[in-house]
Amino acid sequence: MSNEKVLVEIKDLKKYFPVNKGLFGKAHSYVKAVDGISFTINKGETLGLVGESGCGKTTCGRTIIKLYEPTFGQIIYDGHDLSKLSQKQMLPYRKKIQMIFQDPYASLNSRMTVGDIVGESIDIHGVYKGKDRMVKIQELLRTVGLSSEHSSRYPHEFSGGQRQRIGIARSLAVQPEFIVCDEPISALDVSIQAQIINMLEELQENMGLTYLFIAHDLSMVKHISNRIGVMYLGKMVEIGKSEEVYGHSMHPYTKALLSAIPIPDPEEAALRKRIMLKGEIPSPIDPPPGCRFKGRCQYAKPICSKVDPELKNLGSDHFVACHLY
Ligand code: SF4
Repeated sequence: MSNEKVLVEIKDLKKYFPVNKGLFGKAHSYVKAVDGISFTINKGETLGLVGESGCGKTTCGRTIIKLYEPTFGQIIYDGHDLSKLSQKQMLPYRKKIQMIFQDPYASLNSRMTVGDIVGESIDIHGVYKGKDRMVKIQELLRTVGLSSEHSSRYPHEFSGGQRQRIGIARSLAVQPEFIVCDEPISALDVSIQAQIINMLEELQENMGLTYLFIAHDLSMVKHISNRIGVMYLGKMVEIGKSEEVYGHSMHPYTKALLSAIPIPDPEEAALRKRIMLKGEIPSPIDPPPGCRFKGRCQYAKPICSKVDPELKNLGSDHFVACHLY
């Protein structure tokens, strides 16, 4: 990978959820939501993580910040392994690592004022008190394009875009270094999506933030990401610099995702051939051996049913997991 400073290193991360529990609560099988993925995120960069719903991208984000305990693997943050830390030992890292949630309607407590929502983590970490606390909250609201008077209002008084701004102000309250943005624009109107992306980019530049930006389609991560990772059924199938993944995608699944992005120019759109994926996504409960994409892949060959392809560097830090390469 590159020589830039690595802030987050994920090594063979797995998150399995038990299902079909038997008589004594022993699980008979597991949903393998994240099944052995490895990647790094450099300080100050944005890694976009994409894939269809159910591919494990949100579970991956939540496991990295330890909302879920990992089943296996390491989460190295700034040289420290977080994977085995207790929730109490995680407290110093909770300040540095924050999350912006997908649904700005559900993620804000409707009974709390905006000031208290934004101030919640300030109180948990005790970073500002009394008058300084209120000054900080008002400053944060202005930073995200709201006004200081908004602090006494309640979430239902705001539009979707404004609520997401409140969620972003909350995540910034304790001066984080790394933010997991879990589909932060999916629930918003297209016109508002661009505003939120621009704001996240400005904040990144001004505050030196590092992002893991999760989205379900490649068009959403295109402008904000330095690198992009594509997940399919708990596995990383392709990862590389944005221009590489967009311009020279290699994995058949990435190619299909790219072909589904709408093109505004009708003439250009008419020339493009959409790759229609056939077949069902297999169940993530004890998936069969081999490549998990084989049932939907037009290039599948016998080895694809037997051997799980490894992520290989094909040059320029462009990694692909496919037997075609
Ligand atoms: Fe298709 Fe085989 Fe590549 Fe999987 S490994 S994407 S089935 S060609």
